[in-house]
Amino acid sequence: MSFNSLGLSDALLKAVSKKGYSTPSPIQQKAIPPILEGKDVLASAQTGTGKTAGFTLPILQLLSQGQQLRQRPIRALILTPTRELAAQILANIKEYSEFLDIRSTVIFGGVNQNPQVTQLRQGIDILVATPGRLIDLQNQGLISLAKVEILVLDEADRMLDMGFVRDIERIIKVLPSKRQNLMFSATFSKDIKKLAMGILHHPVHVEATPENTTVDAIIQKVYPVAKEKKTELIIKLITEGNWKQILVFTRTKQGANKLTESMISAGIKAAAIHGNKGQGARTKALAGFKDGSLTALVATDIAARGLDIPLLPHVVNFELPNIPEDYVHRIGRTGRAGASGEAISLFSPDETIFLRDIEKLVGLKLPVENIKGFEPDPNASKEPIKQGQGRQQRNSTPKKPKTDTTNRSSNNSFGPRRPSQNNDRRSNR
Ligand code: AMP
Repeated sequence: MSFNSLGLSDALLKAVSKKGYSTPSPIQQKAIPPILEGKDVLASAQTGTGKTAGFTLPILQLLSQGQQLRQRPIRALILTPTRELAAQILANIKEYSEFLDIRSTVIFGGVNQNPQVTQLRQGIDILVATPGRLIDLQNQGLISLAKVEILVLDEADRMLDMGFVRDIERIIKVLPSKRQNLMFSATFSKDIKKLAMGILHHPVHVEATPENTTVDAIIQKVYPVAKEKKTELIIKLITEGNWKQILVFTRTKQGANKLTESMISAGIKAAAIHGNKGQGARTKALAGFKDGSLTALVATDIAARGLDIPLLPHVVNFELPNIPEDYVHRIGRTGRAGASGEAISLFSPDETIFLRDIEKLVGLKLPVENIKGFEPDPNASKEPIKQGQGRQQRNSTPKKPKTDTTNRSSNNSFGPRRPSQNNDRRSNR
């Protein structure tokens, strides 16, 4: 199948060809036609499948065909969980709309709102936003969503995990009730299905990869290793394997910092990216990782969400995630858009339950390889870790959560957020 056969306009085909895409990815083939028909779409797709173009291209086409109003009200609203993802989506929109008269911008928290407000005042057709900043500007009367024709909820599962459900509900209340809705999610929990049912009308379901299964192009391996030897092992893998670009996941922000320091001491160019890092540091780390001046990016799940790093060869789970869906998200950073990649999990005995949960979710027994000199003590405890974000908290009653608020602004007069249990589980990330 070619992009020509999807019914896209010449201006869009030109932009796609300039990007160097020759064939539409599976999610693009499946999602673009129903979106062009004006239908609601519920798509199962993770980052790396080409989903951004899957919704951006048809939206651009619909908006450029529609009537251009002199005032240029916001006609398409794209909600995303993280600033990085928001910025990436805008960058894609700009590229795809190069040959169209469409204006787009992005708003997110953590930076001065004034330049964003100035942009909005000039008239914007497509707005990409994280929920917190959008609500702030809405409350200040600086933004009107009364003319929105298309709503996109991108990475809906992560938005719920990050406690944005009430924000989403509040934003939806101020949108026109007649609109087209598109929802993208990598995983489909009961909560996601409930959210979808409340927002979408007779949606067309499209799937890039089967639900909660991992991409075939990814070689997955589990290395059993004594907990105290994980740092030594990852340094050995990077240096002896001469790895040039590796994304490493830790469970906590503190863990990310500690590992980064050890890597730097071992001569590996590394940086950490997590919720305690300012926007400047996060952008710098990501840019360094993309241009090759950094070898390793050490990230927590929330910070890494939605990062678009094409053709990433290696992903390492320094610690297994205690939320099994995160495993699918993490390894989705490799083997992207048809390229093969390797996802390695360093697995210590106290993570036995996490591994079992992951294997249950993906429906696979992950291949185990032992590395001589690093094997864990066969008698080591298999009890889950007690400190940090241990599994014990999964079923406990949430205490007052300390959420990663990197995308949030405290100035939210819509009232307090009700913390989800997931916030509690993720509070240390
Ligand atoms: P996404 O899943 O939207 O984050 O896209 C992942 C990566 O795939 C991005 O770097 C896109 O530029 C790239 N991409 C999107 N569509 C295509 C396509 N049809 N062919 C090749 N690469 C693509």
